[in-house]
Amino acid sequence: MEKFRGVDYYAIEGLLSEEERMIRDAVRDWVEAEFLPVVAEHHRAGTFPLSLIPKLGELGVFGATLTGYGCAGLNNVAYGLIMQELERGDSGLRSTASVQSGLVMYPIYTYGSDAQKEKWLPEMARGTKIGCFGLTEPDHGSDPGGMKTRARRQGDAYVLNGTKLWITNGSIADVAVVWAKEDDGEIYGYLVERGTPGFSTIDIHGKFSMRASITSELSFQDCRIPLENKFPKVKGLRGPLGCLNQARYGIAWGAVGAAMACYDWSLQYAQQRIQFAKPIASFQLVQQKLVWMITEITKAQLLCLQLGRLKDEGQARPQQVSMAKMNNVQMALDTARLARDVMGAAGIVDEHPVIRHMMNLETVNTYEGTHDIHTLIIGRDITGLDAFGV
Ligand SMILES: Cc1cc2nc3c(=O)[nH]c(=O)nc-3n(C[C@H](O)[C@H](O)[C@H](O)COP(=O)(O)OP(=O)(O)OC[C@H]3O[C@@H](n4cnc5c(N)ncnc54)[C@H](O)[C@@H]3O)c2cc1C
Repeated sequence: MEKFRGVDYYAIEGLLSEEERMIRDAVRDWVEAEFLPVVAEHHRAGTFPLSLIPKLGELGVFGATLTGYGCAGLNNVAYGLIMQELERGDSGLRSTASVQSGLVMYPIYTYGSDAQKEKWLPEMARGTKIGCFGLTEPDHGSDPGGMKTRARRQGDAYVLNGTKLWITNGSIADVAVVWAKEDDGEIYGYLVERGTPGFSTIDIHGKFSMRASITSELSFQDCRIPLENKFPKVKGLRGPLGCLNQARYGIAWGAVGAAMACYDWSLQYAQQRIQFAKPIASFQLVQQKLVWMITEITKAQLLCLQLGRLKDEGQARPQQVSMAKMNNVQMALDTARLARDVMGAAGIVDEHPVIRHMMNLETVNTYEGTHDIHTLIIGRDITGLDAFGV
């Protein structure tokens, strides 16, 4: 197959600034040159190419919308385009950037003390330190408010007890942002460094999705952390939800990247594959699938772009982010499944990226609020009625 040809049916290119285009192209070229040649082997092995993380730092990917501390201070559209290009490579690559930027650097920047910011942000921006985000628990996924992990003050320390599950980059992280309840029943955020006694991790194996990404369980058993490791500026569920809102925004763009990869690959394949003495792309039913893909990708691109512009104006509401995450991930999953179908048997092997994207997108559909949870969020917003069953 030829190099990726780009997907822009509605001349959206013209709506981007020169800087936004340059940033997108730089990340696109990097993914093409450095990441795509190694992703299949990491996917098979169930590993992440750790040596690339500092290179992502050099590219300015981490904490890209933050200012100071070595961060790039980009607008939200440029950040979105970065996420799009990373996930055109692999959802695991985008997940690493999303977690580092939206779920670890963002809360340190927004809720953290000056000392916490000085200590972590410059190194995280460079990619010489890695973070993870511990919210989900074995018994609490979609309803994190019911979390069981506890933090109790004892003298000059907080003592953490509990388990976090499904944590991206958990075992390779230098620092974990951990959400726990104190005796007042409120949720607070804490920074737990790797190597702290009482803090251990185990990786989750046997995944059929997000194989080129590390997913771990974090365990806290009488884990004592210094008082200054607590976030001073946030209390309650709005702490983790504020982070998720950032990361979901990046996912909405990233899913478009995965869909673009699947569409372009299956289109090229269909133009080259001959059956009944004709390219399969000449058959109406195959064209219908390709047309569905490009139409839905185009709609999703426009959704992202307007959301990004709203975010840059400080006008994007969390419910609008929910709509983009919900729609674009479903679109990408459907696109990947159709692309897989267009490729016949060839669609199931990792010589082609489509099946890898398809399996990854099953996770993307579930994490950061499942598709159905975002439906409920939007439903509550437009009707004023809560259908969460609580
Ligand atoms: C590869 C991977 C990486 C992840 N990385 C992280 C991470 O870094 N940090 C982190 O904290 N978490 C992470 N997660 C966890 C993820 O956020 C959760 O899986 C997600 O929130 C869903 O929780 P659950 O899996 O417990 O599903 P559940 O909450 O048990 O949901 C199961 C099903 O029930 C439905 N459901 C639940 N409640 C309702 C309701 N009220 N009404 C209707 N339907 C409902 C859901 O939509 C879903 O279909 C990751 C997950 C995966 C798979």
